[in-house]
Amino acid sequence: MKPRTKLQKAVVKSAGKLSPLSDYQRQQAIKHTAPHIAKLDSKGNYVCLDCAHQWHGEKAESVICPECGVKLQVDTTRRWNFRVLDYFAIITKRDGFQVIRMFLLSTKLRKGDKANYWIDEAFQRWITPSGENLIISRRRNFMARYCDSWDWGSDLELRNEHYAHSVGPYKIIGRRSVIPELIRNGFKSNLHECNPHYLFNQILLDNKYETMWKVGQFELVRYFIKSSYELDRLWPSIKVIIRHNYHVKDANLWCDLMRFLREMNKDTRNPKFICPENLQAAHDEWQCRVEAKREKEREREARLRELDEEQRYLHNIKKVRKDQRKYQKAKRKFFNLLFTDKELSVKPLVSIQEFIDEGKHFHHCVFVNKYYEKPQSLILHTMIAGEPVATIEFNLEKMEIVQCRGKFNSKPEQYDRIVALINRNKGQIAKKILA
Ligand SMILES: [Zn+2]
Repeated sequence: MKPRTKLQKAVVKSAGKLSPLSDYQRQQAIKHTAPHIAKLDSKGNYVCLDCAHQWHGEKAESVICPECGVKLQVDTTRRWNFRVLDYFAIITKRDGFQVIRMFLLSTKLRKGDKANYWIDEAFQRWITPSGENLIISRRRNFMARYCDSWDWGSDLELRNEHYAHSVGPYKIIGRRSVIPELIRNGFKSNLHECNPHYLFNQILLDNKYETMWKVGQFELVRYFIKSSYELDRLWPSIKVIIRHNYHVKDANLWCDLMRFLREMNKDTRNPKFICPENLQAAHDEWQCRVEAKREKEREREARLRELDEEQRYLHNIKKVRKDQRKYQKAKRKFFNLLFTDKELSVKPLVSIQEFIDEGKHFHHCVFVNKYYEKPQSLILHTMIAGEPVATIEFNLEKMEIVQCRGKFNSKPEQYDRIVALINRNKGQIAKKILA
């Protein structure tokens, strides 16, 4: 791409002035970025895959090669060939631009050979003090599926940004040299595991990131660099925690906590809620509450669906009439039963509508589960001064009470009296059966 604008021309000119990787930088990159491995067999024979030196020794996790002095990770697998690709970056500045130079290091390790390294520069990111980005890059291989597939024969020149350019470096090599605008906006030297180009852009462009970085909320910055969509909504809460010097050590947990509090309609600006001493404990506690609330919600919806079922059923008048006739035919002989003590009165349900009313009143399933169709069941209900207090299922074969339930299937207060009253009158039920 030919540089056309003033800015593009300036970047291309400055890019031409960058020096190639020095021998020292090369050594540092290999030391810190490449894998360094010692093979160990079961007899205690070590082989350094850096320099091919062999020696005998005790088993360990890591060793220092007695020949080349490199610290090596011990590998006891059957694998003998390693090819590893890693990006490393050099962070520098030039003519007022922030520059991130991205290099690819290819490491080949083989038994009996010295390690083979190959390094080349893949692309550079040029960032202006106002956060504009330009890319100087190799061409991408057209058929390439992998991020590291650059056309190494092409020139480093001005090119359009590609998703392959979003890759972050595994290591930063050498001293970090940054423009004064980044220092002004809070950057010192530590990247706190952020991808440098995202971090630099955000703290140059967005004063929310600048503020969080300056007060040391690195965890939050790293979190929002990866997923920024909640930052605006959470910003009022973040301002509060900053004011209260509350330091977020786990941004995932803290953002979860904010979601829980919102779902529970709690004030997400109240330091009592959003600055917990023990974040994990607060997170777990509110998670439990949210889950309990959701469970209640589900139960409520299930009840509403049952109500719908009643409505659908009642609209089918033919079916209601048929059920009504069947029910009356089966149980009519019991309809004039009435047992009473001083306040309680117990009598059978005499219509489908009564089953519906009873189910609605008590929030139980006497209607939904079609108890009116059960041939062996006589469904009774108990009232006190005209108020329903319980529904009873009486088994006509075994001549006993199967269940006696009040609201939400609970045990009614007068349970013992109801049971006693019915048991005293079993004889009347028996007479009706024989009638
Ligand atoms: Zn060695």
